[in-house]
Amino acid sequence: MFVDSHCHLDRLSDKNAPLPETLAFARQRGVEHFLCVCVSVQDFDSMKEKVTPFSDVSISCGVHPLHQEDACDYDTLLAKAADESVVAVGETGLDYFYSADTKDVQLTSFIDHIKVANELQKPLIIHTRDAREDTLNLLRQYKAPTTKGVLHCFTEDLDMALAAIELGFYISISGIVTFNSAQSLREVVKAIPLDKLLIETDSPWLAPVPHRGKENQPGFVVEVAEFIAQLKGVSVSELARITTDNFYTLFHHVQSRR
Ligand SMILES: [Zn+2]
Ligand SMILES: [Zn+2]
Repeated sequence: MFVDSHCHLDRLSDKNAPLPETLAFARQRGVEHFLCVCVSVQDFDSMKEKVTPFSDVSISCGVHPLHQEDACDYDTLLAKAADESVVAVGETGLDYFYSADTKDVQLTSFIDHIKVANELQKPLIIHTRDAREDTLNLLRQYKAPTTKGVLHCFTEDLDMALAAIELGFYISISGIVTFNSAQSLREVVKAIPLDKLLIETDSPWLAPVPHRGKENQPGFVVEVAEFIAQLKGVSVSELARITTDNFYTLFHHVQSRR
């Protein structure tokens, strides 16, 4: 059974199917759990309400580094993330590729998220792009290793992956790994130990081959798993078992709700 460790169910359009049908399709393909990741604290309540009917969906709380127009202060973040249904803090992080101009706000927000994660003992979901040094330095400086977490939709180099693993973090791979242009990422994935790997769709974005151009959905995590299994030379069921175990180990608040 698979887990989609990172999706944005509240951002899916209804153009393919309503959410209950989209989730039913994924379950039918063997996806047993979904982590719906918050990108804006303003949207947290409506996101929570949307997925509350589904016992196999967990939620996080945080502000995406590219949504700093929705930035909130430490106390607001702490209060929202303390909600008992919240299993992780994020997505947070640093993205200098798309938005180096908001660097200062991104840094402040990232530090707040690390502190909140430590305070609540909930793992961090981190988005990082073109910000390797700052990301790793802040994780070390603010003692993120006490909560651990994941670098999601990973596209950086092996050195960064290994440094994050040393801090107790997992590396999550999305459908990008199936893209033609992702040769260097495939080499990185080959070198990441299986017991540190998670899989995700990041839907509605980044549909894997052969669904490119379509809206992504959690059911397509199966294509991501099949591709990585082949890269790593293991069976799909073995890859599913290990990445699912890794998911419940990291997101232990989900485990306790099962
Ligand atoms: Zn992201
Ligand atoms: Zn995301």
